[in-house]
Amino acid sequence: MNFNLNTELVADFTSNSQKIRIMSEHWVAHNIFCPSCGNMHISSLGNNMPVADFKCENCGEIYELKSKNKRIGKKITDGAYSTMIERITSISNPDLFVMQYSDNLQVINLTLIPKFFFVPSVIEKRKPLSETARRAGWVGCNILYSQIPEQAKITIISNQKFADRKLVVDKYAKLKKLQTNNIENRSWLLDILCCINAISNNDFSLKDMYNFKDELQLKHIDNHNVEAKIRQQLQVLRDKSVIEFLGNGYYRKLL
Ligand SMILES: [Zn+2]
Repeated sequence: MNFNLNTELVADFTSNSQKIRIMSEHWVAHNIFCPSCGNMHISSLGNNMPVADFKCENCGEIYELKSKNKRIGKKITDGAYSTMIERITSISNPDLFVMQYSDNLQVINLTLIPKFFFVPSVIEKRKPLSETARRAGWVGCNILYSQIPEQAKITIISNQKFADRKLVVDKYAKLKKLQTNNIENRSWLLDILCCINAISNNDFSLKDMYNFKDELQLKHIDNHNVEAKIRQQLQVLRDKSVIEFLGNGYYRKLL
């Protein structure tokens, strides 16, 4: 496997971000299978589509690619804030590939976040561009990568090692069962997953979950029975085989 980004493709370009975009898209189109259906290739859409970079010709799934040098860190810069929020709430957003590349332009890691894990709370509004900017007043956004629960991240490449294609497709299918197009329900599900992840033990209790009550109340100010909501979401996660009920208010993480 060749992990080098092809610099010959961008000999005529000067903008670094444009160069990276072209090289990383080319690399993905030539090396990555469709995580949704396992099709051997996904096709680059070029500049025809404003929000998506790739499409699987087999299942129709669309993907966007964001690349970062070295560490991903807490945030990933994305496009217009309003477009992003609109996409999330209409489920027309693509799945997101996050690529990490090294200083010597080699692909190191590639992770996929399925579209159904995006909620408005993980999209941060950036400051409008200044009066002197070419696009004055334009408002971009950041994806708060570190606030997306680990279960929502599917590893495709880790330290230049590919995950098994079948395992990736299985994981995608499993996560897809968590899909809900109701943004409020989706937000609750992700918040509860984040709480579960914040508990270090593999087994945990309802009491452990109630410790997050105040934090959850702040995120869902209109909800008047957070404890009931916690229990309801734990049932949803049990039904989707993310956790197991052990009885007597105890649970076990499965994913
Ligand atoms: Zn596909």
